[in-house]
Amino acid sequence: MASARKIVVVSNRGPYRREGERWVRSAGGLVAALHPMLSERGGSWVSAKHAKDFSTVEGEPDVAYDLADVRIDQELQEGFYMGVSNAILWPLLHGFPATMHVADAPWQTYVTANERFAEVTAEVSGDDDLVWIQDYHLMLVPGMLRKERPRSRIGWFCHVPWPPWSLFGILPWREQLLEGLLGADVIGFHTREYVDHFLDSVDRYTGYSVDRVRGTVRLERRTVRVLPAPIGISVDKLTELSGAPDVLEKMHTIREQLGGRRVLLGVDRLDYTKGIPERIRAFGRLLDADPSLRDEVVFLQIMVPSRTDVAAYAELKEHIDQLVGEINGRHGTTGRVPMQYFYRNFDQRSLFAHYRAADVAVVTPLRDGMNLVAHEYVISRQDEDGVLILSEFAGAAGHLPEALQVNPYDIDGIAQAIRDALAMPRDEQQRRMQALRTEVQALDVHRWADDYLTALEHG
Ligand code: UDP
Repeated sequence: MASARKIVVVSNRGPYRREGERWVRSAGGLVAALHPMLSERGGSWVSAKHAKDFSTVEGEPDVAYDLADVRIDQELQEGFYMGVSNAILWPLLHGFPATMHVADAPWQTYVTANERFAEVTAEVSGDDDLVWIQDYHLMLVPGMLRKERPRSRIGWFCHVPWPPWSLFGILPWREQLLEGLLGADVIGFHTREYVDHFLDSVDRYTGYSVDRVRGTVRLERRTVRVLPAPIGISVDKLTELSGAPDVLEKMHTIREQLGGRRVLLGVDRLDYTKGIPERIRAFGRLLDADPSLRDEVVFLQIMVPSRTDVAAYAELKEHIDQLVGEINGRHGTTGRVPMQYFYRNFDQRSLFAHYRAADVAVVTPLRDGMNLVAHEYVISRQDEDGVLILSEFAGAAGHLPEALQVNPYDIDGIAQAIRDALAMPRDEQQRRMQALRTEVQALDVHRWADDYLTALEHG
C-alpha cells in the first residue's frame, strides 16, 4: 500500500507481552498481520498495560514503531475486561445469552476504560492519521475519539460474530454501543451475515438511515461504510513452516508414537463457544457403534487454557475431563487409549507438526467469528490430502464449501461426518483439499490489512 499516512492501531491486547525478563510476541492472527505492517510503515500501537506490569516492567520491546500504554489498574481490569467484555459481550456476540448476567454488569468500568483508550489514542494521533480500533472491548472508542478528532479516518474491526438484532437488543446499553461504533468511518466484519445483522441492529435501535445494498449508514454529517473483510492467515510464512524439516520430523515421530492409527485432531482455546463436549461425545458415539475402531483411530484434542479465572471455563474443563475419562474407560486397552488430550499451549512448530500428522481435523465450534485453525490445517496439507470437518456456524464455513460441513449441535451428524472422512477416497480428499487451499490462500492476512486500510483511507 502506497499511502504515507501514519497508522495508529488500537487494541486491548498489545503486540508484546512480558514473560519473566523477556518480551514475547503475542499469539494470534491480529498481531501476525498488524505487527509486520506497522514494522514496515511505522506508526503507533495503543494497548493496555496492566497493574502487575506498572512497576515490574522496565524498558520496551524493540520494535520499529511507537508503543503507547493505556494504564488499566486491577479494579478496572476486573470490571471492564472480565465483567463486561468477557462475561457479557463475548457470550452475547456469540449468541450465548444464557451465560450472561446483564443486570449486575459493571458497565461504568467499560465506559471508563474506553475513555482511557480514547484519550491515549487522541494524544498519539493527528488529524491526518488512519486510526484502526480492534474488537469488542473497545466499541465506544470510535465515538469518543471522533469528538477529539473530527477529521481523522477512524476504523473499527469486529473479530467476533455479530448476532441478530433481537439478541443484540438484550443489552441495556445497545444505543450507546451503536453510537460509539458509528463514530468510525469504516466498520468491518468477517462475513456478509454479520454485516447484515449489524445493519439490522442500527436500523432497529437508532434513527439513522441504512442502505443495505451499499452497506452504509447515513449520519447527519457523515456516511459510515460497513463491509465484510474476512481475515486470513499469514500464507507464505505458514506454508514455509509446514514444510520445514524439523516440523516433518516431528510429524513422523507423532505418527509413530500413535502406532500407525488414523489421527483425528481438534485444536481450540478452551471456550464454551468451541463445541468441544459435543465433538467428544460424537467420537464416543462412533466408538460405541463400532468398537473395532478403537484400534484404528485416535482422537487428539489440543486445548489451550483460556480465562481460567472465570467460573464457566473451569466448569467446562471439568466436564471435558469427565467425558474423556468415560470414553477411555469404556474403550481403552492396556497401553492404548482412543482419546488423548493436552491442556496447554503448543508452540507453532509443534502445532503444525500435529496438523501435518492429522488425517482429519474436526473443527466444530458452536459459533466462531472466523476460526483460523481451519485455515491453518488446510495450509499445512502440502500433500493435498486430509479432510476438514467444519462447523457451519464458523465464519470460515462461508468460503470453505469443500469442507465436510456439520451442525455442531448434532452429535450423530458429527459422528457420521467422521465416518465419512475416514472412508473418503484419496482422490476425493485431494480434489477437496486443492480447492480449500486455493480459498485459504486467497484470504491472506496481509492482504486483509492492506485492503481494509485502503477502504479506510479512501472511503
Ligand atoms: N494456537 C496456538 N497454540 C495452540 C493452539 C492454538 O498458538 O496450542 C493458535 C492457532 O494457531 C490459531 C489460534 O490459536 O492461530 C486460534 O485462533 P482461532 O481463530 O481458531 O480461535 P480463537 O482462539 O481466536 O477464538
